[in-house]
Amino acid sequence: MASPVEGLPIEGIRSDLEREIQSRNRLVVVAPTGSGKTTQIPQYLLEAAGFSGKQILVLQPRRVAARAVARRVCQERGVSLGREVGYQVRFDDRTSDETRLVFMTEGVFLRRIQTEPNLDRVGVVILDEFHERSLQADVALGLIKAIQQRQRKDLTVIVMSATLDVDPILDYLAPRGGAECPVLSAEGRAFPVTIVYENGRDRRWVTDRAAERVLQIARSTEGGDVLVFMPGMGEINATARRLRELRLGEDFEILPLHGDLPPDQQDRVFQSNERRKVIVATNVAESSITIEGVRYVVDGGLARVARFNAESGLGSLEIEEISQASADQRAGRAGRVGPGICYRLWTESGQLNRLPQTTPEIQRTELSEVVLQLSALGVQEVKGFDWLDRPDPMAVDRAEALLRRMGALHRNQGVTALTDVGRQMLRLPIEPRFARMLIEGDRQGCFDQAALWAALVSGRGLLVRGAKADRSLEAAQEPFREDERSDFFTLTKAFQMVREGGFRMSECRHYGVNRQVALSVDEVHRQLTQLGQRIGLGVTSQKTDDVQIGESVLKCLLAGFSDHLCRRTSRGTLECDLQGGRRGTLARESVVQESEFFVGTEIRTISSSKRGALTLITLASHVEPDWLKEVCPEHVHRNVEHHYDQTQKRVEVLETTRFGDLLVAEEKTKDFDPEASGRCLAEAWANERISLPLFDHRVEQFLLRTALLAHHHPDLKQRALEKDDQIAVIARALKGERLTKEAQRRPLLPEFLKALSQEVREWLEMLYPERWTWVDGSERKLVYHLPRKKTGGEHVEALLNVSITECFRLESHPVLGEGTLPVTLILGVPKGKELARTQDWISFKAREYPSLKNRWKQKYPTVTWP
Ligand code: ADP
Ligand code: MG
Repeated sequence: MASPVEGLPIEGIRSDLEREIQSRNRLVVVAPTGSGKTTQIPQYLLEAAGFSGKQILVLQPRRVAARAVARRVCQERGVSLGREVGYQVRFDDRTSDETRLVFMTEGVFLRRIQTEPNLDRVGVVILDEFHERSLQADVALGLIKAIQQRQRKDLTVIVMSATLDVDPILDYLAPRGGAECPVLSAEGRAFPVTIVYENGRDRRWVTDRAAERVLQIARSTEGGDVLVFMPGMGEINATARRLRELRLGEDFEILPLHGDLPPDQQDRVFQSNERRKVIVATNVAESSITIEGVRYVVDGGLARVARFNAESGLGSLEIEEISQASADQRAGRAGRVGPGICYRLWTESGQLNRLPQTTPEIQRTELSEVVLQLSALGVQEVKGFDWLDRPDPMAVDRAEALLRRMGALHRNQGVTALTDVGRQMLRLPIEPRFARMLIEGDRQGCFDQAALWAALVSGRGLLVRGAKADRSLEAAQEPFREDERSDFFTLTKAFQMVREGGFRMSECRHYGVNRQVALSVDEVHRQLTQLGQRIGLGVTSQKTDDVQIGESVLKCLLAGFSDHLCRRTSRGTLECDLQGGRRGTLARESVVQESEFFVGTEIRTISSSKRGALTLITLASHVEPDWLKEVCPEHVHRNVEHHYDQTQKRVEVLETTRFGDLLVAEEKTKDFDPEASGRCLAEAWANERISLPLFDHRVEQFLLRTALLAHHHPDLKQRALEKDDQIAVIARALKGERLTKEAQRRPLLPEFLKALSQEVREWLEMLYPERWTWVDGSERKLVYHLPRKKTGGEHVEALLNVSITECFRLESHPVLGEGTLPVTLILGVPKGKELARTQDWISFKAREYPSLKNRWKQKYPTVTWP
């Protein structure tokens, strides 16, 4: 058996590695790209004693890398692929019973944990390229850590990276100090790389600009290969096309490199060749794969990045600018064999505006797939999971709610459990919404159609909409728009039309079909069908009748997008109600113009100058209310609801059916609940829809006195009766009442009194009485008063109207509440006008009265002024 390659920098840490794995089960390895981490370390482990014949798994973020590296290692060892060494990626498994070293994607690993929760057959897991911080790598590391803590102390984990800020990882893996998790690092051999920026902004497409750079390199240099970075397959193909147009194909071999390429074409990149090579790659060539001989890098500066798409509630891939750290990695690829040059297709000032590091995926993407996986592994609290970087709690809630709605999770008495549907969804390595559609497709007997619709949802912009003046395009598309139940029937017809014609360019153009999108829909459809069939979907009892299929597939869309259910507010309008009390508007071009209920796959908020923010719903599909019960039974709730009917001036009792909080149906019923009716009237009062004349002065006085008592005598433990308490009291008082007229006659004060205990009521009478016994023995009325714009017991005053002449007999100022509240005396002339107010008569008499007396004497000469 051949041994690992010699002379690579990583060899320097081989003996350390062999020593550390004897006693440690966590390790970090940092060494520059190309130093031999990926290809050599797994081989060292394979040859080291230990792991008692268990497997070594190497996790890769990308399929291309998993395949390429596995092949390379087989080559180095002179073994054939799939025996001792193999790889496993979606749709492609090259392992056998004897395979000990498996290169796999992170996604495949997470699915393996589902069937082998303790990883019993595994000795080491290596997380490669960890600096990329993919969501799945974060989840994988968290799960491995948990498995180690639970029962597999002997399971070793190695985190590897070319550039890594190790501190957070050490804090995470070695919370009690560094010794638990040693860091091994190796220096690389790199030659200097000169960076060349653009001078100014160039608005041409990045593929054209890249191609021109390559042409310039070709003309001015003699040797060395060129590596071009593009965000995805489309851009790679466009660049390659442009290079051929520029006749570069004569001297150079032009080699695309991305995940959708057949494996043999991927391998061509590594074969040595007489001609110089131009490799046009995704960021797989950034650090996962090393291609020897590269001297020039042309960096488009973009990458496809997973993001949460709020419009569809799906994860999506967006093209974004790469970070400074990524750009440096890419540049480094030019310095492998000698000094190199990296051409960045952006300006030097643009570089400064880029993010220093890439944000971890967990903080920017849709989480429902991960939440589903963790739930299946018994992780009850995804928020509380031991994360390296915690996800946004709102994103977790959203994901959980979506899964519950789809019937994948079931929450019962605080315990979340996976349902059968959830278990099936888990076996499909795709976005949960699509998984749900496929499962429903199988149940409904329209699996193939459901897979096509899922593909159509993911392929945006299939039909090009003509400009307003473009009548010919509209006319060409008109025949597709014949089934008013769904915009997806329209898309299906258009798609089938061009597919039958072999996706001919001219035909696509004639019908306004985006050919690229159509091709990708075709591919996704094929993949979804294949994935479903692997777990036995769509195999038995499928419908053949088009009419039946038509209705069934509508239900499938509902299953995947039931949270997007809309109800048209009235016939002939585009306005509709959504869940969560939102309002939306259906896109004018939708064919779904008659349905009362429909789901929209995209719901986006746009701001329009005329109407402010507008919630626009596109790609809609009809829903029969009956289907809700059939497809999402857990979300249909029947209730008896009491509503106040303003025109009838009475409480109506309705039996309602709601989907989530959206009203689906209502029916009058005789199921009258006296308490609910009272409550309904009380709320109508609170919303100022009815008046209650017996909520009168005495009630108001009672509430103010209670507020005083609550404020000044906390020992009595009586709260002030706030609005909510008042509603509750009134609800009790009006129990059994339906008519406003009757409700208005019901006395309220007794019920308010009952809200206080007997003891507190007695205190209230004593501390803040309704009447005050004046010095002459007469009972005088106290008026409790809360000044405008004030709230709370501390501001309540007690007013007492007296004639000033009566006051001279007072020996002390009247005070309430055991001295807490001096009465406000409103001093007037006998049967006359207010002259002054005081809360301290004795000092008023001594200080202010003498100087006021003469003025009042002149004004009111008939009064005897003492
Ligand atoms: P690292 O993981 O540290 O980036 P690798 O283990 O991928 O390094 O690569 C180590 C060396 O092996 C590279 O510098 C390259 O020379 C060589 N190598 C790796 N893969 C291939 C391949 N498929 N064909 C030819 N050489 C390869
Ligand atoms: Mg590597």
